[in-house]
Parts: sequence; structure tokens; C-alpha cells
Amino acid sequence: MEGVPKEETLDPSDWSEVETLSHRIIDDAIGHLRDVRDRPAWQAMPANVRDIFRSPLPTDATPLGEVYRTVVDAVMAYPMGNIHPRFWAWYMGSSNFTGALGDFLAAIQGSNVGGGNHAAALIDSQVVSWCKEMLGFPAEASGTLVSGGSMANLIGLTVARNVKAGVDVREHGVAAMPQPLRFYGSDQIHGCHRKAIEALGLGNGALRRVGTDAALRIDIAELEAAITQDRAQGIRPACIIANAGTVNTGAIDDLPALADLAAREGLWLHVDGCVGALIAIAPENRHLVCGIERADSVALDPHKLLHAPFEAGCALVRDAAAHRGAFATTAEYLETAPRGLAAGGWLSDYGLQTSRGFRALKIWMALKEHGVAKFGRLIDQAIAQARHLTQRIEAEPMLELVAPTVVNIVCFRYRPRDTDASRRKEINVEIMLQLQENGIAVVSDTTVHGEHCLRAAIANHRTRQEDLDLLVREVIRTGDQLHAATS
Ligand SMILES: *Cc1c(COP(=O)(O)O)cnc(C)c1O
Repeated sequence: MEGVPKEETLDPSDWSEVETLSHRIIDDAIGHLRDVRDRPAWQAMPANVRDIFRSPLPTDATPLGEVYRTVVDAVMAYPMGNIHPRFWAWYMGSSNFTGALGDFLAAIQGSNVGGGNHAAALIDSQVVSWCKEMLGFPAEASGTLVSGGSMANLIGLTVARNVKAGVDVREHGVAAMPQPLRFYGSDQIHGCHRKAIEALGLGNGALRRVGTDAALRIDIAELEAAITQDRAQGIRPACIIANAGTVNTGAIDDLPALADLAAREGLWLHVDGCVGALIAIAPENRHLVCGIERADSVALDPHKLLHAPFEAGCALVRDAAAHRGAFATTAEYLETAPRGLAAGGWLSDYGLQTSRGFRALKIWMALKEHGVAKFGRLIDQAIAQARHLTQRIEAEPMLELVAPTVVNIVCFRYRPRDTDASRRKEINVEIMLQLQENGIAVVSDTTVHGEHCLRAAIANHRTRQEDLDLLVREVIRTGDQLHAATS
């Protein structure tokens, strides 16, 4: 027809071609996961591959098959490595195939889970309810799925600030607060808390770091003294940030004692459970996090011990009204309707995002497929493996443990004879780098109470005991070589 412009769409003109390619992508993806153990745990990217990522904005079309070829060669071949059975750096999950299918299907449906009356919104709420159940939180509690633990902690600390501000802080801002607020956490808390406190306008100084004992748990007497001292100086103690598993060593603060203290002093208890909250589903170790169900808010991380593909975090808040009260707005363009798609309320009222991805599906599908008991057993397995590694380290004269192993994080180092601390650190860093560069294993390093060490965090459902035995052998072999070369 004349005058009608030729309309375009992103849909393929030939679906059968896309179908063939997509089947190949699925086959390749299955192969990628099936054979992960045969590939290096990590490999450095050659300069010519790196250059691909400096090409300018594409103006012209490229056939999808060709785009995929580049993805195979330049992307799939150079992963972070956290799905590999010998990846134990920092603290992250190792993903799972069902979760990947969930992410794919979520994207195919393409739903925005900012709210509304549709299946994805219901699944989102159901996964939050399952998180409550896993931690022993009451059904009336509130919660929201977010990108990860950092955002989940920000959600919890925001509600804490608003509840304790002593003023309508949403309306009037922190400058109107009658007294400055103080938050407390141990010297082991994750860096995201500082970012959260700063973003909340309280300033880093409002987050008081309390010392830790030899087991890296918050010193409760010191915390009590700090609260008393602050109060005497006109500062309002607002919130205790407890660790259910520190990121450094996995130390678990005395949660029942902190819950008692918070109740006695009228403080909000927020638990950072990104490492350990989900231990609550592990039959042999759940006693370690007992008391977590008494928190006012908890941050947990399904992309860690539930191995959801990134990203998936969850914030739980006991007081549902306080949670909604911290974020809800009544935007005229988001009025709820009695029927239809806008019935059912807005999930965007429980956090900072308006549009939200369908991250719930990958968690929902994997929990349905395996059942929660399997995930609990996998957590027990990881902790048992960490204890095995700990025993191996203790039995080796050239290795030493640097922090007590509580859960699935092991801090240790090679102990060269007749060297000072700085040379010892150099050797251990070099061991870490060589293990990575040789593709053998990925561990990271940290400093615990001033002592530098290597750190293996076994948040990995593919790890076998033999992988850890290999780690022990390779650390000693590499360390001996390095030490011999310089002595
Ligand atoms: C991982 C972690 C975080 C941050 O979570 P992200 O998912 O990386 O944003 C916070 N606290 C602890 C204890 C963690 O282990």
C-alpha cells in the first residue's frame, strides 16, 4: 500500500534458521557444563581476543551465527571460572543448568516483575515466602528479591534507619533527625555496609566497628560498652549488623546473644546472612545459625549457596509495614486497579527498583526440581569438605591454618622456613597467581587480624574431596619451588 512505511521488528524473518542455531546453542551449552572439569579453572585472555572487546559500536548487521561464533571463541572460552569444580575464590555460587534454563525462559517471557497481576509476580512472591520458610521467619514477614547481598543489606539498613530515625526521614531527610544514629558491626563486616551507610546519608562515621575475638566474632562486651558510651554522648544507637558468616573467615557472631542485646537496648537487629543464612536448611549444621529467625531483617544470597545464576539476592524484613513504609510511593501512573493487570499491587514498593527482572524463575525451578533437602545436603557437603581441607592443612608441616574453620571457608598459608612476614606474603601471593595461571585452581587471599593468608571458600556443588587434596599438593609443590629458588 502506498504511503505505509516498511515496518521493522527484531523478530527473525526466518524462524527456522534461528531454530537450528538455537538447538546448537543448547547442545553447546550442555557440553560446556558437562565438560567443565576438563577445562582450566581459569585462563588469561590473549591480546588478540581482548581486542575484540574494543571494537566500536556496530552500525551494520551481522548474521546471528557469526555473532554466536564470536561469543564461543571470545566469551565462553574465558569465564570467571566459578562454575569450575576447583574455583574457591571470594564467595560465590557455581550456578546450575536448571537455573540457566530458568533465566532463558524468564527472558523469553520477558515479564517485568515490578508488580502486577501475572504469573511472574506471583512466583517472585512465592520465592520470597520460601526464603522466609528456609530461615524460620514468620509468614507475615515481608521481603523482596534483589540483585544480590549488597542490595539486600541496603534494603535492611534502610528500613532500620527509617524506623529508628525519630523523624519522618523520608519526608525531611537525615538533617532533621533529632540525634545522630549509630549502627554497629564487627571489624569483619562486608564492605557493602559502608556503602549502604554512606548512601543512606549517615556517613561512614555512623558505622562503628567493634573488635572481634580470636574466633573473629564480635566482642559483645565491647559492643555493649560502645552502645552505652554513644548514648551518653547523645548519639542514638539504632542497629546491630550481625554476621551469619563473615566473608573473610565464615565466623558467625553469637546471634542469640545479639538478639537479646538488641531487644534489651531497643536496637534493630540486621543479620548479614550472605554467607551463612542458608545454613539454616542444612541438617548437620543448622544449629550454627540458630537465632537468625529473631532478626528484624536479614540479607541472604541465593546466588551463593543456592547456586542460582547471577544475580539473585533476597532481603527479609520482619515488620512488613515498616518494609513497605520505607519504599512505597503512590505514583499516579502506578495506581492499582480492581481487576486486570494492575490488580495485585506493586513489588516495586519494597525496594529501589521500579522495573524488576524475573530472577525468581531460576530459583523456583531449581528448588522444585531438587527440593530444598538436596540444597541443604549440598551445604553440609561443602562444610564437610572445608573440614577435610582443614585437617589436611593441619597435618602438613609446610602449611598452617590462619583462622578457625567454622563453615565452608578455610584460611591458610604456606609456611616457608626462615622467612619474614613480607617474604611469606610474597610467596603465598605467587602461589595463588601460579595456581590461577596454570589453570589448576582459583583461590583468593585476605588478611585476618593482620595475618596474610590464602583463602578457599567452598561454595561449589561440583567440588570433590580429591580436588581439595590436589590443592594441598599443588600449594606445597609450588611453595617449595618458590622457596628453594630464593634460599
Ligand atoms: C557476598 C557478600 C555480600 C555481598 O553480596 P553480593 O551478592 O556480592 O552483593 C555481603 N556480605 C557478605 C557476608 C557476603 O559474603
